[in-house]
Amino acid sequence: MPDLSRCSIHTMTMKPWSLAQTIAGLQRAGVPGITVWRQHLQPYGAEVAGRMLRASGLTVTALCRGGFFPAKEQVARDAALADNRRAIDEAAIIGAPMVVLVCGAVPGMPLTEARQQITDGIAALEPHARANRVKLAIEPLHPMYAGDRSAVNTLAQARTICETINSPWIGIAADVYHIWWDPEVEAELARAGAGGWLCGFHVCDWRVETRDLLNDRGLMGDGCIDIPRLRGAAERAGFTGFNEVEIFSTSRWAGDQDVWLDTIVEAYHRHT
Ligand code: ZN
Repeated sequence: MPDLSRCSIHTMTMKPWSLAQTIAGLQRAGVPGITVWRQHLQPYGAEVAGRMLRASGLTVTALCRGGFFPAKEQVARDAALADNRRAIDEAAIIGAPMVVLVCGAVPGMPLTEARQQITDGIAALEPHARANRVKLAIEPLHPMYAGDRSAVNTLAQARTICETINSPWIGIAADVYHIWWDPEVEAELARAGAGGWLCGFHVCDWRVETRDLLNDRGLMGDGCIDIPRLRGAAERAGFTGFNEVEIFSTSRWAGDQDVWLDTIVEAYHRHT
């Protein structure tokens, strides 16, 4: 019997589906975990979505996403913090153990300044995260996004923020798409695990050629990432959490989502 016990799927992977449709699909496919994106939560509100998720029996692995801390104006930074506090509240209501952070970047702002604003923003959120018992999971993004989506681009940078803030409510979400190229990836997964920071593990693949910088992620096995090697490094570092399947793909979203889900489950068995 194939082992899906550590399999979770992001609602964004099934983007055309509503939360209700994704819950039903995962139940049909025998996938036990779900990471909920706020845009799929929003039509229901957190209270109703939380009841649906509890009734489903699925394990909520995370809420995506918060972050986007840097901004040129203080008023915009304050607005980002307020929105992140709402995300933490929503995570607590739906039973998600963490909010995944895409840290943000501002075109034209020096990366050093953006990184300082990110560290300051996460530190400012920590008391609210702790009070709600929701972790903040820093997700380093591939450096191709350093200009406008995240100034945190390596596991080492994420670890430095964890060390600086030094709280059990701050951790790291490792996404193979963003970290596979890093010569330090295995050593940093080991350090993240040893520090107790590694709290999320996202899987997909890096397509060659990548046709779009955001929405052309590959299915596991369709690209060049050695997922079992990276998962092995995470497990050797003590990580036992889910493999969260997170695939943004315009071409996959255009097809039948039931077929797509079955394709994901099959690829999960062979390549994760
Ligand atoms: Zn991810």
